[in-house]
Amino acid sequence: MFKLIDLPYHKEALEPVISSNTIEFHYGKHLQGYVDNLNKLIAGLPYEQMPLESIVRHSEGGIFNNSGQVLNHNLYFTQFQAPKTFWNGQELSVETVSDDQIRAAAPSLSRQIEAQWGSLQAFRAEFEAKGATLFGSGWVWLSAKQDGTLAISQEPGAHNPVLRKETPLLTFDVWEHAYYLDYQNRRPAHLNALWNIVNWKVIEARYTKNEE
Ligand code: MN
Repeated sequence: MFKLIDLPYHKEALEPVISSNTIEFHYGKHLQGYVDNLNKLIAGLPYEQMPLESIVRHSEGGIFNNSGQVLNHNLYFTQFQAPKTFWNGQELSVETVSDDQIRAAAPSLSRQIEAQWGSLQAFRAEFEAKGATLFGSGWVWLSAKQDGTLAISQEPGAHNPVLRKETPLLTFDVWEHAYYLDYQNRRPAHLNALWNIVNWKVIEARYTKNEE
């Protein structure tokens, strides 16, 4: 039986980047639904004994869709932390995370990003653009190949870089359920705001584990 993961923060903690209302639906309803569907679909099958990533790599149809979405959301929801906020007149504003803060939290990963993209800004621009231009529902991913080099990919539906035996590091969910309550049609604005809640220590740990 797969269980709904625990969030490493309170449901209000990501505001104003992601509202508690969106967390209640996205985590409490959508992810819970994928977990429940997956458990129903694999009952009595050999998949019940397999780790989640193996199910994703060796299934199709409903089992693939639901296991892929559980894996994707588990990685998505555990990669965030509360933003630093301040009051700007009547409005709660978010402090922008600097390149130096990213380098301090993710030294190995940021070195590799800067080696491949030239700068963290160039990497972020490409990642955002790939998220903004992904047609329909899916995910934009940063993943590591077995030699430690990095790639950005657009993945449709429930897909994940583990299908190519890569290590998934960072992802932005571009299904409308991820942002519509807070941003309506403004997907690019949502993607841009997400940088200020990424927990780069978590992304660094995923990357350095890949290199071991
Ligand atoms: Mn989602």
